[in-house]
Amino acid sequence: MRKINQIIVHCTATRPDWWENKSINEQVKEVTRWHLDRGFSDCGYHFLVSRSGEVVQGRPVEKSGAHAKGHNSDSIGLAMFGGFGSDADDLATEHFTPLQLAATYDLIRKLQEQYGVKNENVIGHNRISSKSCPGFRVQKWLSGMKLSEATASKPERTKPRQSKTVKASAATIAASAGTAVTSLSGMNENAQYIILAFAGLTVLFGLYIMRERIKAWSEGWH
Ligand SMILES: [Zn+2]
Repeated sequence: MRKINQIIVHCTATRPDWWENKSINEQVKEVTRWHLDRGFSDCGYHFLVSRSGEVVQGRPVEKSGAHAKGHNSDSIGLAMFGGFGSDADDLATEHFTPLQLAATYDLIRKLQEQYGVKNENVIGHNRISSKSCPGFRVQKWLSGMKLSEATASKPERTKPRQSKTVKASAATIAASAGTAVTSLSGMNENAQYIILAFAGLTVLFGLYIMRERIKAWSEGWH
């Protein structure tokens, strides 16, 4: 078995609805025909991923592919159907379906594990050629996938109104305002003004504390 150091991602540069009524096997056969016409001995890619996320093998992995000039001997080439008219810096989701991207991601991880390919050696064709293929930056896409996986496993952040410290501040404000209002009856006018001013200050101070706590919460202290 040859040593595999790289996984190179391609697209077939076909339109999204290309041969949509045909099976993935027929689609792969058609791509293989193009490659045979170009003088290749077999399909240039080792794996192809359909729009609905099916994975079909092209050329056996034991054999060098014909997909990336100068990199064929130690790489696996996989291609996703689609990518017509894409630019190198587009988003993966602009040209490929979620099912297709998920299947491609799984395939890449499986191949990495099986052949010991490092993360930094999973690249798009556009990293080693002037082509836009596969129509997005593979390294960037993969690091985005890792990030979303990491955040998905963390517990959901509590909302401000559910935070205990913020709730306590709100209760304090309500209580002081309530006390001030109930003690107003039966007092002379001057005392009422003083109490009202005091209650106002308490509310303002309470709001200030609450604002600080919300700020602290939003910075992660909760
Ligand atoms: Zn390519």
